Amino acid sequence: MLNIALSKGRILEESLPLLARAGIDPVENLVFSRKLVVATSHPDVKLIVIRASDVPTYVRYGAADLGFAGKDVLMEYDGDGLYELLDLNIARCRLIVAEPNQHAARDDPRRWARLRIATKYVETTQRHFAAKGIQTDVIKLYGSMELAPLVGLSDRIVDLVNTGKTLKANGLVEVEHIADISAWLVANRASAKMKHKPLKALVEKIRQAVR
Ligand code: ATP
Ligand code: MG
Repeated sequence: MLNIALSKGRILEESLPLLARAGIDPVENLVFSRKLVVATSHPDVKLIVIRASDVPTYVRYGAADLGFAGKDVLMEYDGDGLYELLDLNIARCRLIVAEPNQHAARDDPRRWARLRIATKYVETTQRHFAAKGIQTDVIKLYGSMELAPLVGLSDRIVDLVNTGKTLKANGLVEVEHIADISAWLVANRASAKMKHKPLKALVEKIRQAVR
C-alpha cells in the first residue's frame, strides 16, 4: 500500500487533475468530502488530505510514503528525512517582501537595516535576511499578513503572491523577490528503499502526468 499526503486548499485543486492524468482517481470527491483518508481507482494507492504545513511531517515519519507539498512549506520545515523528487509545476506563486506604497516610494532596499517583518515564514525570512547581513525582528503570524503594515504591527511582510491583487487592494507593493514557489513531490526516505519498486512506478506515472 502507498499513501500520498495531499495539501488541503489551493494545492488540492490542482493536485486532483494531475493525479487523474497519472491514473489515480479518488473514489470520493475530496474537495467536498470530510473523510481524511480516501481510497482511489488504484488498488494500492490511498490519499490522505491534511493541512499544507503538516505534509512534510507525515512524510518525514513515514505515515505517508509520498506527499504534495508547497516549496514554501518545505523551505520552512526544519526536519530532514525527505527526498524532494519532482517539481509538480502546480500552485505556482512567489515568496516576496512587500511594504506600503507610500513607504516604497522613498525606500531603498540597498540601505535596509533592522527590519520589522510580519510573516508566517519565520525561518525562511530570517535565513534570507541573515544571508544578506540584515538584522530583522520577525513577528510570527498565521494568516492575513497584508493587514500587519496597515495597522502598524510591522513595516513589511513576507508573503506569497500570485496575481498581486490582494497586495494592491491593501495598498502594498512588492519590493523584493525571495523565491519562486510551486508544489513538489516529496518522498519518505525509508519508503524509497523498502517500497522501491511500486514507489518508482508511481513516481514515474506522476512524472509523465506533469509533462
Ligand atoms: P494552513 O491552513 O495550513 O495555514 P493555508 O491557509 O496557507 O494553509 P493555502 O492558502 O491553500 O492554505 O496555501 C496552501 C499552499 O498553496 C501554500 O503553502 C502554497 O504552496 C500554495 N499557495 C498559496 N498561495 C498561493 C497562490 N496565491 N497561488 C498559488 N499557490 C499558492
Ligand atoms: Mg492561505
